[in-house]
Amino acid sequence: MTHRALIGVGSNLGLPAENCEKAFSLIDQSASIKVTARSSLYHAEPVGKTDQPWFVNAAVEVQTSLTPEELLQTLLDIERQFGRIREEKWGARVIDLDILDYDGKVIDSDFLTLPHPEMVHRRFVLEPLSEIAGSTIHPLENKTILDLLNNLPNKQVVKKFQTS
Ligand code: ADP
Ligand code: MG
Repeated sequence: MTHRALIGVGSNLGLPAENCEKAFSLIDQSASIKVTARSSLYHAEPVGKTDQPWFVNAAVEVQTSLTPEELLQTLLDIERQFGRIREEKWGARVIDLDILDYDGKVIDSDFLTLPHPEMVHRRFVLEPLSEIAGSTIHPLENKTILDLLNNLPNKQVVKKFQTS
């Protein structure tokens, strides 16, 4: 378990909060992956395609001995277990699991781009991620996750879930 990866989790169909919790468990139960930190759950208004339900978003940190490609394959398998089929980009989904960062590696292949290319613009990613990895340096921006969040111009509404 020598590598550290950060994973973004999102859902806006069915029972989104339960879907995220179930995804955390399935990730943790996967071979050669251990969840080492998880953020709170957040409510986020949809961006891009706005005529869809609000999302629940979260982030987890894992330790893994898988390669980045193997880790993505595992996450896509978990998405399939939720019955997710590839649908329109930006559209509603029962679960979305994205690798945000893997040891600060930079990769650009057809299958996998690291760090995740959209994360720097997305409040719904940076807000939960800053809870568990605020001091992690973005390898292309050379800024911390917290700096990226604090300098984000967009006004998307992202609020922490109230539990109990
Ligand atoms: P999005 O998350 O952008 O809405 P999808 O979840 O449908 O889109 O992902 C489509 C494809 O994105 C996946 O099949 C995967 O091969 C590719 N992909 C590239 N880089 C990443 C990454 N860092 N994390 C997750 N998927 C990625
Ligand atoms: Mg995805």
